Amino acid sequence: MTEITGSCLCGNVSYKGDTEIKMMINCHCTDCQQATGSVHGTMVFVAEDAIEFSGDTSIYDHPADSGNTLSKIFCGNCGSQVAGKNTGRAGMLGLRAGCIDQKDLIKPGANIYCDSAIPSTAMDAELKQFPGMPG
Ligand SMILES: [Zn+2]
Ligand SMILES: [Zn+2]
Repeated sequence: MTEITGSCLCGNVSYKGDTEIKMMINCHCTDCQQATGSVHGTMVFVAEDAIEFSGDTSIYDHPADSGNTLSKIFCGNCGSQVAGKNTGRAGMLGLRAGCIDQKDLIKPGANIYCDSAIPSTAMDAELKQFPGMPG
């Protein structure tokens, strides 16, 4: 098990958990680019029930290409997106890597949605690359 803690920029939203990291990816889809305001999102997937949030979280739901509903969990005060959920992956929570305190834990295993990557984004050639969603 791995202890994970994190918080938003202003500190109003924080979370903690002791859990197994199931998967870690860099996502270059346009949703992640817009939602994070960065060139890609890095997600650390854990069991949703292992993470306990404190503070006032806001949620924005939107449809995915797949027809699933995606939820962005963010701080309504400073706007940091701390996590995301997908109805297609019930029980999983994708923590946004930049909000995690344990920086040494962040080791993505793949790049996904590379077809929509911003051309100047550096890609680690050692990692698997998928044009869209893997599988
Ligand atoms: Zn905040
Ligand atoms: Zn994405």
